[in-house]
Amino acid sequence: MTKAHASITAEIVSARAEALRTRIETASGGRSVEVIAVTKGFGAEAIRASVGAGLFRVGENYAQELIAKAGELGADPLLAPEWHFLGRLQSNKVRQLAEIVDVWQSVDRVELVDEIAKRAPGARIFLQVNLSGEEQKGGAPLGDIPSLAARAADVGLRVTGLMGVGPAGDPELARPGFRDLVAMADRLSLPERSIGMSADLEIAVEEGATLVRVGHALFGDRPPR
Ligand SMILES: *Cc1c(COP(=O)(O)O)cnc(C)c1O
Repeated sequence: MTKAHASITAEIVSARAEALRTRIETASGGRSVEVIAVTKGFGAEAIRASVGAGLFRVGENYAQELIAKAGELGADPLLAPEWHFLGRLQSNKVRQLAEIVDVWQSVDRVELVDEIAKRAPGARIFLQVNLSGEEQKGGAPLGDIPSLAARAADVGLRVTGLMGVGPAGDPELARPGFRDLVAMADRLSLPERSIGMSADLEIAVEEGATLVRVGHALFGDRPPR
């Protein structure tokens, strides 16, 4: 895997990041939006290339893959990204991830809130909202978000935002869900809204994304898992 994608360089990622910033600015009218470089499926060189291109926030979906890449990058502070965990998360993986993960974006149930509070006290989390009705994408129903947020605050976690994955297909289909998520973030005074991926980031930015999570627009097609 590493070898086949050894061609991902900081130069390539920089050029794509530039194009990405243009897309974002066109949609945002100049409001600043952070980019999370989603490196799942690619080797540690994609993370090196991202950091080299000035993208310090990196998103990963799978516990073992994240741990392996963090190990490969080692302790070099110049290569230390801000790690965002984006994937479906089993509680029994939290302990191993706790030393590495900076922002837990896919928190969607009480069990996970409690486990993160135990293993990573005071950690920064986003609550994931299920926007598509597809169970395999994770996320809590919108109506459960206020009680989850209250629980997380009770156990000392810093809930700073909401995350959501739009449905596949026409990007315009994501708009109503993004709008509901942003309204809920407003209601709970959560500043971060992590919505939008390569295909639907314009819609997300128009609806108020503060972070977009971008994989293939930066790194190309992911190798099959
Ligand atoms: C894979 C993934 C992304 C990035 O998707 P692209 O379509 O490659 O931009 C963003 N968010 C989550 C939660 C993901 O799993």
